[in-house]
Amino acid sequence: MRRFNITLILCLMASFSVFAQKPIKDLKPTVILISLDGFRYDYLEKFKPKVLNELAKKGVRAKWMIPSFPTKTFPNHYTIATGLYPENHGIIENNIYDFGVVFGLDKRPEVQNSRWWLGEPIWVTAEKQNQRAASYFFPGTETAIQGIRPTYWKEYNGKSPNDLRVDTVLSWLDLPVEKRPTILTLYFSDIDDAGHEFSPDAEETRYAVLEVDDNLKRLVDGLKRRKIFGKANLIIVSDHGMAAVNRNNSIFLDDIFDIEKATERVLWTGEIVQIFPKVNQETKIITALKSQIKHATCWSKSEIPERYHYRSSPRIAPIICSADEGWVLTNHKRFDEWRERDELRGLRGSHGYDNTLESMRATFIAHGSSFKSNFVSEPLCKLLETKTANPSRRFPNIPSS
Ligand code: AMP
Ligand code: ZN
Ligand code: ZN
Repeated sequence: MRRFNITLILCLMASFSVFAQKPIKDLKPTVILISLDGFRYDYLEKFKPKVLNELAKKGVRAKWMIPSFPTKTFPNHYTIATGLYPENHGIIENNIYDFGVVFGLDKRPEVQNSRWWLGEPIWVTAEKQNQRAASYFFPGTETAIQGIRPTYWKEYNGKSPNDLRVDTVLSWLDLPVEKRPTILTLYFSDIDDAGHEFSPDAEETRYAVLEVDDNLKRLVDGLKRRKIFGKANLIIVSDHGMAAVNRNNSIFLDDIFDIEKATERVLWTGEIVQIFPKVNQETKIITALKSQIKHATCWSKSEIPERYHYRSSPRIAPIICSADEGWVLTNHKRFDEWRERDELRGLRGSHGYDNTLESMRATFIAHGSSFKSNFVSEPLCKLLETKTANPSRRFPNIPSS
């Protein structure tokens, strides 16, 4: 009897709390920008996440989205936020050399230092127009850009549970209209993490996609309970795709030139390497690279093909090497460390390669009152990529540091 009473009370409380959810009747035009890091364009069909497919079917989907070069996380998120190429917005890689220091994803004081972030991200535009912006993570939101931050923001912590991220975004929408943000961001890294660790074709990556799909269900259900699903505009993007990589396919730059002797510094990733030569060493290094390198392309900065839009920033290194898909640029020290950590076995995943590769294609889905229904667009922004000879005509030239 006693147990029955408690169960009854709990049931009543649960149903009461559902009914207690106040509908939002005074929603202004609102955008929730959701980034699914590393969600390759074909994961929708390949892994069949239910909620994402439903949103894509009922709303708008691009066949794919072409990321900017290099196909890395920080450059592409900030391109999505500003509409600028990395050479114009300043975040030219996940690692950047400027001001005598190296910027990196885990260098908190630098990520939170406004000097790196050029251009104007969408949340700054919103705040300038007396709207409020809120961010549960998005590169660039942890600092004041042009002196302006989102009203609500979070310091990045990859361990923050995804459901907490969703619930916090919903709680921001529950604020009274004068305090409620009209542009909100959400970010999930799990799909990228699984893609790197297990490869884009792995079951583990499928499960990561399906788990993030559950997080999105929580968001959609929350919007439905507030009676604003269909009204609020969801824009779901990814920053790049993912390619299968075996680290045994390594290209050793220290077999081609003496890195220690000839360079001031080298900023490494497996897919793109930034080389800063010592005085009078540039010609020697580029000549050696061009004649000997296999499975990668190296350029002097002035020779980087126009289509990459990757020349004009003073932050771009004098020499850039870009690996072919599935290959890894490295030196013997880094390779030996991978061996010691048992990271040479099996397939992994990577991105950072040529942005026109199929494996690097990103995702674009949109759903809400401002978007068409049942519409599939041609790839974004294929037309611009192929037809625009001079990118500076389209995008304002932002003064660089
Ligand atoms: P990438 O090396 O390009 O694969 O970067 C992906 C990683 O970026 C993810 O695993 C995240 O942990 C990290 N990341 C994403 N957003 C942020 C941020 N705002 N601050 C610091 N790290 C981030
Ligand atoms: Zn990424
Ligand atoms: Zn990644």
